[in-house]
Amino acid sequence: LTFKDLGVTDWLCSVLQSLGITRPTPVQRGCIPAVLDGRDVIGTAQTGSGKTAAFALPILQRLSRDPYGVFALVLTPTRELAVQLAEQFRAFGAGMSLRECVVIGGVEQQTQAKQLARRPHVVIATPGRLAELIDTDPGLRRGFAKARFLVLDEADRLLDPTFEEPLRSILAALPSDDRQTLLFSATMTQALVKLQAEKLQGAHVFQA
Ligand code: AMP
Repeated sequence: LTFKDLGVTDWLCSVLQSLGITRPTPVQRGCIPAVLDGRDVIGTAQTGSGKTAAFALPILQRLSRDPYGVFALVLTPTRELAVQLAEQFRAFGAGMSLRECVVIGGVEQQTQAKQLARRPHVVIATPGRLAELIDTDPGLRRGFAKARFLVLDEADRLLDPTFEEPLRSILAALPSDDRQTLLFSATMTQALVKLQAEKLQGAHVFQA
């Protein structure tokens, strides 16, 4: 099976080839077609399994057809993971003038507010800092009103009580319909089973 067989468009296949990525991993085979099909997805996958590409590629492919303001929001629990995710988005989005922005703690807030105000296509954020920014600036909050993708990377960790407040604030800024939710986690925890039952009943599930 190739990326093309999964529905990945030619120009993205070329980018992958130039990065030496030619064979889809299990999580990519299990998730990319469903994401391209417009479905919510719950995937269990470890770091190193290729899970970032499993959501980044279909997001970039949809983005190229459908350029909005903030198109996709990717939430992740740590600054380091946010930086790594952004690197992959940048590599896969080479040549499509992708505007992505990393919003994390420990970095000057004003600079991030300015970057967010430019309505990047993809925002990769840790919940605390993003919530702070959109809670203090309604303009920045409105920038997310048409987001088409919400990705929860390391969702088991994001559902930790410490993230509950910021997550609630962020979710309130996103549209509730006409949006895909993609959720990736190392393991299927009780909290995730509950979330699936309550909010993501129709989701495509991939279990490693
Ligand atoms: P991740 O699991 O998303 O953190 O990805 C781990 C690393 O594997 C990243 O550096 C990716 O660029 C790389 N990668 C992703 N998909 C593939 C693939 N199908 N074949 C080889 N490497 C890949």
